[in-house]
Amino acid sequence: MITLAEARDRDDADPLREHRSCFDLPDGVIYLDGNSLGALPRATPGRMEAVLRGEWGSGLIRSWNDAGWIDAPVRVGDRIAPLVGAAPGEVIACDSTSVNIFKLVAAALAMRPGRKVVLSEPGNFPTDLYMIAGLEAQGLAERRLAPVEHIAAALDQDVALLLLTHVHYKTGRMLDMAALTHAAHEAGALVLWDLSHSAGAVPVDLAAANADFAVGCGYKYLNGGPGAPAFAYVAARHHAALAQPLTGWMGHVAPFAFTDDYAPAPGVKRLLAGTPPILGLAALEVGVEQIARIGIAALVEKSRVLTEFFRACVAERCPGLELVSPDDPAQRGSQLSYRHAEAHAICQALIARGVIGDFRDPDILRFGFAPAYIGYEDAWNAAQALGEVLASGEWDRAEFKARAAVT
Ligand SMILES: *Cc1c(COP(=O)(O)O)cnc(C)c1O
Repeated sequence: MITLAEARDRDDADPLREHRSCFDLPDGVIYLDGNSLGALPRATPGRMEAVLRGEWGSGLIRSWNDAGWIDAPVRVGDRIAPLVGAAPGEVIACDSTSVNIFKLVAAALAMRPGRKVVLSEPGNFPTDLYMIAGLEAQGLAERRLAPVEHIAAALDQDVALLLLTHVHYKTGRMLDMAALTHAAHEAGALVLWDLSHSAGAVPVDLAAANADFAVGCGYKYLNGGPGAPAFAYVAARHHAALAQPLTGWMGHVAPFAFTDDYAPAPGVKRLLAGTPPILGLAALEVGVEQIARIGIAALVEKSRVLTEFFRACVAERCPGLELVSPDDPAQRGSQLSYRHAEAHAICQALIARGVIGDFRDPDILRFGFAPAYIGYEDAWNAAQALGEVLASGEWDRAEFKARAAVT
């Protein structure tokens, strides 16, 4: 059995150890859900206070210029860009991931006249599939779903866009971005990658993969806070042709000319629709800066070793428990998912012990390992708790089986 002392030794040798104190986590909690809502960086409240009292309270409307509010979507986008292999000017922080998917799917369809199919996989994150369906209901798109192993065969002359999630939210399986992008391009289609479970946790190189578009969440591994603005990427080669349907005034070339006719801003700025949420962007900026300071390479290395450590601890303590995530850490995101018929109740029993993971319908128990602030002792304790919960049957209580609105 792997011992607690061994876990502590690994924490002592962890090069990311000092960064853990940059996050404000409650005592008595082992937080394995940073892939769903990232932890609070210690610097965020101070920054929010400064934005609220100084920039808003004192600066008032002058802060659009004086505090750089108007540039925040592009500035924060530029900070996210190197984390996903994009160049400055190719990423913008705005709206939600869902809304950005809508804009980019519509833009991609407009770039492939005569083709209407948007290809994705069944079991993709719901909002991705629903957004395609929404455009289908408007007569603009035709949704086609094919399992990943059949994607290549489903890429025919009707496909305008391939929309895939890089790291699957349920299983953690990571797709080969370069290979799938190449296959789509060979068929004349464009590609939109959803990086919600990738950005800030796994290596992403949009440029090397020759990706066309991408979106991702600000509140997961980027620690931007609940409902943080998302990000959207458009390869520079598509900027001139990009036409998205939410043609709001903030995406206009000259918003303050107040003209009657829309003309898009150059570059990714045309993805803006309405006034940017400055408070949300301020919190996101702190989260992104924190991740950038640690560095993606160090985060990826830690994530791989840490999830392997947890996998080994769980294998010892819960020998029959089925791992649904890939065995190879290079083929998965920073999470491990297990299958159990009573996953929901087990998850609740773990939360009662202070181990916060989550449950994904119908039978998935998901543990996210945000490498910036989760340590080996956390992983050891979580595996130990899981072993005890399973062995004791303590999950078998009505209160643990009751479903909440948000799981
Ligand atoms: C979390 C997540 C989203 C969330 O989209 P929102 O618009 O922020 O609610 C989208 N796609 C994937 C793959 C996700 O994991």
